Amino acid sequence: IKDKKLEVMEKVRDNGVRFIRLQFTDIGGILKNVAIPVSQLDKALDGELMFDGSSISGFTEIEESDMYLVPDPDTFTIFPWRPSNGAVARLICDVYTPHPNHAPFIGDPRTNLKRIIKEAADMGFVMNAGPEGEFFLFLVDEQGHPALNTQDMAGYFDLAPVDLGEDARRDMVCTLEDMGFEIEASHHEVAPGQHEIDFKYGPVDKIADDIQTYKLVVRSIAERHGLHATFMAKPIAGINGSGMHTHQSLFNLQGENVFYAPDKPYQLSDLARWYMGGIMKHARALTAITNPTINSYKRLVPGYEAPVYIAWSEKNRSCLIRVPAKRGLSTRIEVRHPDPTCNPYLAMAVMLAAGLDGVKNQIEPPAPVDANIYHMTQQERDRAGIASLPGSLLEALAELEKDEVIKDALGEHILSHFLATKKAEWERYRLEVHPWEINEYLRLF
Ligand code: GLU
Ligand code: MG
Ligand code: MG
Repeated sequence: IKDKKLEVMEKVRDNGVRFIRLQFTDIGGILKNVAIPVSQLDKALDGELMFDGSSISGFTEIEESDMYLVPDPDTFTIFPWRPSNGAVARLICDVYTPHPNHAPFIGDPRTNLKRIIKEAADMGFVMNAGPEGEFFLFLVDEQGHPALNTQDMAGYFDLAPVDLGEDARRDMVCTLEDMGFEIEASHHEVAPGQHEIDFKYGPVDKIADDIQTYKLVVRSIAERHGLHATFMAKPIAGINGSGMHTHQSLFNLQGENVFYAPDKPYQLSDLARWYMGGIMKHARALTAITNPTINSYKRLVPGYEAPVYIAWSEKNRSCLIRVPAKRGLSTRIEVRHPDPTCNPYLAMAVMLAAGLDGVKNQIEPPAPVDANIYHMTQQERDRAGIASLPGSLLEALAELEKDEVIKDALGEHILSHFLATKKAEWERYRLEVHPWEINEYLRLF
């Protein structure tokens, strides 16, 4: 730890860093930060920096509000879009409870994810994840407020001059690379104004951090191009929404992919099948976490490449899980229902816990479904035993409350706060009279 601390101090000196942002993520998935001048870094690296936990939704009550931020030195990175003279760097932190116990705080999503990662490690596994975060770039009006107009009419894999977001996207890719990301691809997505940047998979704790950084970079760079980037799941009805498909696999501690078994059906190991069985068994409950907004469920409808039905396939994109063709070290499953409004720490924790439950209990997934399920009737689906994902956040919350494995993966503190805030969100939505209702009924009755 001492060496790591010195390393950070050295980088700070070499790069002329003046400010450090200490970051953490609240239960709702929102990135928070406090800026300190470099003079305070020494203290901060010793974990002595306090903040008011009662001001962060879901952390603590007012009576015991002092909490500590303990920076993770491995997360040091400079914000390339900030001035280089008097640079700004960030450190991602774990949240600790106050003295005397000064221990990792169970309500901190990053700390909670580490708990599930430890469970996997005790079984001899490391989870690798590769997220595909999609987003829209919208124009802003004269006051700088985001509008719903997209700035292009391009589609999947299109290129300039139609793709006016290309400059912004290029700048995002360069920024991410400067921050140490290995970018694998970036492209225009299917819908007008929709984009995707893919970075290399890695161990899930790092990837959860990376997703938060990715979202921050995309939004910050878009703003500099006069655009508003949104990760909202379904900003516009009638066209594709934005997903965060998550490729996942288990490796053993020797770095071998244990999903790969060349002599088995589909070249998938028992572990891969059981992991998939676990995800499918718990899908209805963990959706509350991977798709946590009311709007998330407007994306999970037939016809827009987002999954609706709990099935798996090697090719079919209407399924919850697709198994991409790559094998060997790249053997993996692609879980397609998460969207980028999820808290990545919580989403990874519940998916890993579901997969591990599958492994522990040898849960067999049903046979793959290669037909386009969007085109099957309810009766055909029932006959094939294909269940649906929850149709609304309310339904998903009810499923979550019934699923002990997923509840355990969140822990009591996070679970109760999550349920309370999400139920309140649903209540606000329920009490509102929406434009759709006015259009539908005002003249009719
Ligand atoms: N935008 C689609 C979704 O909502 C995914 C498109 C793709 O296959 O990349 O999940
Ligand atoms: Mg995509
Ligand atoms: Mg995908």
